[in-house]
Amino acid sequence: MAAVVLGWNPATAFGAGPGRADYAMAAATVDRTGLFGIRWRVGRGQQMARGTDVWLFAQGRHGRGLLGHGVVAAAPQPGAALPARLGLLAGVVFDLLLPPGDALPAEVLQESVPDLNWNAVRSTGTVVPPAAEGQLRAAWTSYLRSRPVPEDWLGAVDPTIPLPGSLPQDTLREVAVNRCEHDPDGVQRCVAFHGTSCAACGLSMEQMYGPAGASFIQVHHIVPPSAISPDYVLDPVADLVPMCPNCHAMAHRGSPDAYTPAEVRRMLASAAGPRPVRTSIPGTIPSPEQLNAQEDAARLRDTSLPPRDTQ
Ligand SMILES: [Zn+2]
Ligand SMILES: [Zn+2]
Repeated sequence: MAAVVLGWNPATAFGAGPGRADYAMAAATVDRTGLFGIRWRVGRGQQMARGTDVWLFAQGRHGRGLLGHGVVAAAPQPGAALPARLGLLAGVVFDLLLPPGDALPAEVLQESVPDLNWNAVRSTGTVVPPAAEGQLRAAWTSYLRSRPVPEDWLGAVDPTIPLPGSLPQDTLREVAVNRCEHDPDGVQRCVAFHGTSCAACGLSMEQMYGPAGASFIQVHHIVPPSAISPDYVLDPVADLVPMCPNCHAMAHRGSPDAYTPAEVRRMLASAAGPRPVRTSIPGTIPSPEQLNAQEDAARLRDTSLPPRDTQ
């Protein structure tokens, strides 16, 4: 593991070279897609191998604090528009960028990560001492957890989505993939196309829990993280499938990639456990449980039917 802090003055452009961006736009992109890639000018000898953790530290007269997290996607190299003596350009992919006024304050960092001199962070990169890497990650994670959670951010209550910006670098792509599962627009379009029955076991939450379960289903992103690049665009119909919370959690136990719905279906078929109640498809023969349920319902409506035998 290695980590580097990039200092940034919010009064200046975000990133370097032709891909320079507006910070608000970058933060909005991370919010929507889970990732934002940018080029950053770093020092010539800067240790920034691919996979290095990147921390974005805001400084300048508008206040100082930790604003974001990402990883090095492309090691520093000379840029076409940048003479080598002025530095190199590194490719950085951010997975979390906080609103500018929302940074983890420098005073807190000074206290919880004392091994790094927060008064001397360079925009071209300051290496985090190995002893401080864990402290920094811990401070960031606890800060994120302490912040009020936006109501529409479903990930906050769903264990299948890890906290963004708090993970080891190799799981970063997975975060992006999982966040696709919580894009409300994508979820809606996936369900509109595929319906609300689980793609693996066929369960409908409404059938299981009654009206309270109507239209409740999770969606699973079936594109493996290894196939995701920063410019990936989600196709809610091809890339997402509805899954019940059980099958969904099982799918995410697959490693390195999640199990596919077909794999979960095979597990269900080969296991000896009780079969989930399947949605009755028109034209299929209802299971004994379904027949019992229908009888029970009829009995509630029509008390003239004799009570069912119970033993
Ligand atoms: Zn299921
Ligand atoms: Zn999933």
